[in-house]
Amino acid sequence: MTTFPALEAVSADSGFRRTTIERRPVGAHDVEIEIDYAGICHSDIHTVRDEWGGARYPVTPGHEIVGRVRAVGDQVTGFTAGDTVGVGCFVDSCGRCDQCTQGLEQFCAEGVVATYNTALPDGSATRGGYSAGIVVDERFVLRVPEALDPAKAAPLLCAGITTYAPLKRWGAGPGSKVAVVGMGGLGHVAVKIAAAMGAEVTVLSQSLSKQEDGLAFGATDYFATKDPETFERNRGRFDLIINTVSADLPIEDYLSLLRVNGVLCSVGLPTEPYSVRPGALIAPQRVLTGSMVGGIPEHREMLEFCAEHGVEAEIELIGADEVDAAYDRVVASDVRYRFVVDVARTLA
Ligand code: NAP
Ligand code: ZN
Repeated sequence: MTTFPALEAVSADSGFRRTTIERRPVGAHDVEIEIDYAGICHSDIHTVRDEWGGARYPVTPGHEIVGRVRAVGDQVTGFTAGDTVGVGCFVDSCGRCDQCTQGLEQFCAEGVVATYNTALPDGSATRGGYSAGIVVDERFVLRVPEALDPAKAAPLLCAGITTYAPLKRWGAGPGSKVAVVGMGGLGHVAVKIAAAMGAEVTVLSQSLSKQEDGLAFGATDYFATKDPETFERNRGRFDLIINTVSADLPIEDYLSLLRVNGVLCSVGLPTEPYSVRPGALIAPQRVLTGSMVGGIPEHREMLEFCAEHGVEAEIELIGADEVDAAYDRVVASDVRYRFVVDVARTLA
């Protein structure tokens, strides 16, 4: 066992406190990682504040992890000490079921093991990246390409893969018109990736306050959703809409922006059900779908894509004692565009 400094929340409204946690001994297939950076995803906030239910306190969130390999087990072939590596939303799966063998570990038939808040046999739960170190099976460790800045690469491990996967699946590319709803952590990376894929990208944000940034990230159009005219002007325009909003939305208004056969893919995960009349889907033959992170092979592909196209997150690096304040700013949509905890300098 190795002990590492960490942050933990002990209830939905406790905020974070410093603690230490124990990681398992390095097994034959394990990689021990000294964590340098951990991104703050809105899913961390949903979990810590128990907005989805099922929080297993104490919670140590963090699934956008970048660090350096400290030790490897004797059967590990892919990594050696000193390598810069990443860990995303998952740290284990059965490896044998139909989904795992297709590289869709997130849908493992026996249940994927999330980087944090998954129950362990001893009654505790997995703990994530707001900690100075982690031990992970090498199948779930990702090489971070040298071309990427490690701190700006950390958010790619969730925000990057969660948007890359549906953009690719639904054909974002030259000739396609893509709208990104919500330009926060996921949304701003979605804009960059969709533009790098060659799509024509439009941002649909609550206001025009981030318009200049959106255009710099590669969008060609930017509209405020609080302006009803936005929905008139863009009716029937888009092939694909990626909805990254963490709050409830009038989803039919967004469906009306799709062309025939258009796809609205939600990755944002608020708690209320959508309200959709069947006619809103049937007449123009629209697809309303969702997407969860991505499989491990697709993570590797995404990181190579981002390295090749210079896609990194825009980050605000913060100290370990600033996480509570950062959460409030994320919830207030006051994030430009991902908070990343400087673990090595402020927690370790
Ligand atoms: P974020 O940084 O907070 O971004 C969400 C954005 O949504 C905000 O920046 C804001 O953009 C917009 N928004 C917020 N409240 C709104 C409201 N009331 N009405 C309209 N728009 C609103 O969050 P994130 O980290 O990108 O995560 C977004 C969502 O994706 C969360 O629900 C998270 O749990 C989920 N998620 C899902 C997956 C998956 O696998 N499906 C993976 C990761 C995260 P504007 O200021 O531009 O309007
Ligand atoms: Zn996330």
